[in-house]
Order: sequence, then C-alpha cells, then structure tokens
Amino acid sequence: MGGAAVERLARYLETLESRPVLARTKPGEVLAKLPPRAPERPEEWDAIERDLDALIEPNMTHWQHPGYLAYFANTGAVPGVVGDILAAGYNQIGILWRTSPILTELEMAVVRWLADLVGLPSEFDGQLADFASTGSLIALAAAREQAFPDVRKTGLAALPAGVVYSSEMAHSSIDKACVVLGLGTEGLRKIPVDERFAMRADALAAAIADDRAKGRRPVAVVATVGTTTVASADPVAKIADVCEREEVWLHVDAAYAGSAASVPELRPLFAGWERADSLLFNPHKWMFVPVECTALLFRRMERVRRAFSVVPHYLETPEGSAGVREYMDYGIQLGRRFRALKMWITLRMFGAEGVRARIREHVAMAKELAETLAKEPDVELLAPVLFSLVVFRFAPNGLSPAEADAANRRILEAINAEGTSFISHAVLSGRYVLRLAIGNIRTERRHLEAFLASFRREAQRERAETLAARAS
Ligand code: PLP
Repeated sequence: MGGAAVERLARYLETLESRPVLARTKPGEVLAKLPPRAPERPEEWDAIERDLDALIEPNMTHWQHPGYLAYFANTGAVPGVVGDILAAGYNQIGILWRTSPILTELEMAVVRWLADLVGLPSEFDGQLADFASTGSLIALAAAREQAFPDVRKTGLAALPAGVVYSSEMAHSSIDKACVVLGLGTEGLRKIPVDERFAMRADALAAAIADDRAKGRRPVAVVATVGTTTVASADPVAKIADVCEREEVWLHVDAAYAGSAASVPELRPLFAGWERADSLLFNPHKWMFVPVECTALLFRRMERVRRAFSVVPHYLETPEGSAGVREYMDYGIQLGRRFRALKMWITLRMFGAEGVRARIREHVAMAKELAETLAKEPDVELLAPVLFSLVVFRFAPNGLSPAEADAANRRILEAINAEGTSFISHAVLSGRYVLRLAIGNIRTERRHLEAFLASFRREAQRERAETLAARAS
C-alpha cells in the first residue's frame, strides 16, 4: 500500500498540468456519491485505489499545480511530503519531553534554524504551530496575560476593557483571536493605513492615548508584514517605538511574507521585527513544506508558559520539574504532531541557498508580471509589488465602478473556469480587484504567459461586449 501510494503521488505530481487547477465539482456532488455510513466489512486496497481515481483526485483543487496563483500560492515539495509520511508512520505525540524527546528537541533546533534563516537574534525561541491563526491566538493570549496578570484566575469580567490594535488590512485571524480571548470585536482597534497600505504609526499612538484616557488597557499591537489583500508591510520599527514607549506587547504577523526575510535584500521590509515580543511566519506558505507548519517565535518563552501551563498530577515529570521543555505548556492543545521532521528534511535538502533562490525567483517573476500588466491597455495596478503578489484590475474608461467590478468578476470566473490558471480576488477601497500570487515551486514564466493570454482574451471580450451594448 505504501509503495502504491508513493507511486501514485509521483504520477500525480508528474501529471498535474493535465488537470484543471480549480475543481469543477458542484457543492454537494461528491458528498452525494459517498455512502452514508462506514462499511461493515473490511474492503480491499484495490477498491480504495479505484475511488482515489474516481472520487478523490478529480474533486481536488490542485494546490500543487503550477497554474495555482490564488490566495497565497504554496507548495508541499517532495522532501516535506516524505517527512509527513514518516511522521505519520512514527506517530510521535509531543506532550512531554519524555513522550518524544526527539520531537521536542528537533522542534527546538528547527525553530532556531528558522529564526536564524530569517535573520532574527538568538534570543528568539518558539514552536511549530499548525496555522498562523492558532499562532496569533497563542501570542495574543500571552499578551493578555502580560496586560492582566490575574486573568487566568479572575477571567475578564471585573477588569478594564482590553484593546488590541492592528491595521485595517490585518488578517481576519486577529479578529477571531480577539473574539476567542474575550476582548470582543469592539476590543480590536483597526488603525488606518497610508497610501502604501501600511499602518500609520501616528494614528496608532493617538488611538492608544485615546483608549488610555477612557480607562481602557492596551493589550497588544499586531503589525503585519505581507498583508493578505495587497502584501503591504507595516512600518514595524516605528510601531515598535510606540510599543516600547507605551509598554505594549508587539506581535508581528508575517504569515505569508516572513519566509522572504531569508533573502538579505528583502530583509529591510522587516526592519524592527526583531524587537517584537512575538512573531510568526508560515513555512507552509512560502518555504515549500506541506501545510500545517507555522513558526511561532517569542523573545521570552516564559511569557507563553505563564499563560498556558496547567500540569495535572498525571503529567508531572522529573524533567518538567527541572525546567526541560514540555511543549504541552506553550499552547492550547496537549499533544503535537512531529512537524519538525518535514521542516528539517526540507531545510537540509534545499539548503538555505535553495530557499533563497526560489523566493528570489518568485519575487522577480511577480515584478516582471506587474511591469507587463502595467503596459496592458485598461489595466490598473493597485499596490507596489514588495513580494510575490500582484494586485490589479481591468479598468477601462467609461465604466461605472459597479460595471467595472462586474467586469472583473466575469474575467476572474472565465479564467478560473478554463483550468490552466486559478487566481483570486479581494476588495480594496471598496473595489473588486484581482490578486495573482506566485508561491508554487513549479510556476515558471510560461505559466504566467498562459495566464496573460487568458486575461487578454477575456479583457478583449469585455471591451467588445461593452461596445456592443453601447451601440445597441
Ligand atoms: N495572517 C496573514 C497575513 C495571512 O495572509 C493568513 C492567510 O493567508 C493568515 C494569517 C492565516 O493563515 P493560516 O491559514 O495559517 O491560519
């Protein structure tokens, strides 16, 4: 079975380009084909293989496809896939150091490798979380603990209102974290951005002063490097100045872009993040490991431990009493997967230079594409390309905002229906815009040319239809 599965995966990766990148199934169609209950009698592997062909593979959206240019494109490259296969087989569960010494210590080592790779000083320590959303929740729980040292005992009811600050471009995971932590969406202050979609540090300072004057307590500031909509970068150094002055926790969400700090010439975009109390980035977004790998780093790990540690008698150990790392103390879940294995194999087989070279290439391709798009008739670029995301729209003269939005929606749907490229959209300053993200290791210039050909054809069709409508 294992051999057949590996053969299948190899065939899958080799035949990706013959598959439509976006799944063509309709909601509920696959579910209707699945039996309502598990089989009473065991089935043969052959029957399962038939369903992998008939049901599973045809109904996937192919994230591994080089034409995948939507959201934040990424790759589960082979070294990490093999790491995950091994991790599943070893089935290590990292609760305590003794439940898996190697999981614990490899994770500590890989976290140190990652921090070093992105240019962070050696005091950063941390963990590999599943997703950035969980990472930000853990970090903000530690910040809440710092702002309200008795919160674990008393809860929030008798405390002043706590406030988290982020820019209006911050990811929805920050809203969710505030909800889960009992601060509420009213406890999240969205600070306006400048013309480059970066948080205004002056507006942040003013908002903190206003909240303090009203008796509220600042809990944390979340700066984003690589925002989801446009991949803009908040001015982390200026924000760190405010946080230091105000003694407020600074968390940096660099979920997508953080891997790019491994490239020295891109590192200035992160200037100041080394002053953060916590920060995160997702190797599963742009460091070529399969999904579920978020590097969550803290300047003082003890702060997280204080927020989360609960040690029942049955989990007491001599190692824990001696201060050895017990990862159950640093987050919500008790156990953890052996995530470090896929990261360790990937970093060894790519080398730091392999990671840097691929990220550099993605950024170069994104900048070239933006230059080409800027020369196209009726195309508007909407944000500087700092990393590998290009945000643009079809904007011919004479269309009302609503007509232009509808035209871009139709262009996106037509391109995605074709099967060679998959792009996504966002709403920026109230307007529907197109997003093209390069992050897949197999994406080459020819795939971007294929996208451009589709885009030109659809833009031309829109022009012709608009003219025909006007003429009639
Ligand atoms: N933060 C930012 C800036 C993001 O762009 C994203 C996802 O795109 C997230 C957080 C959430 O990432 P995850 O899916 O790992 O929770």
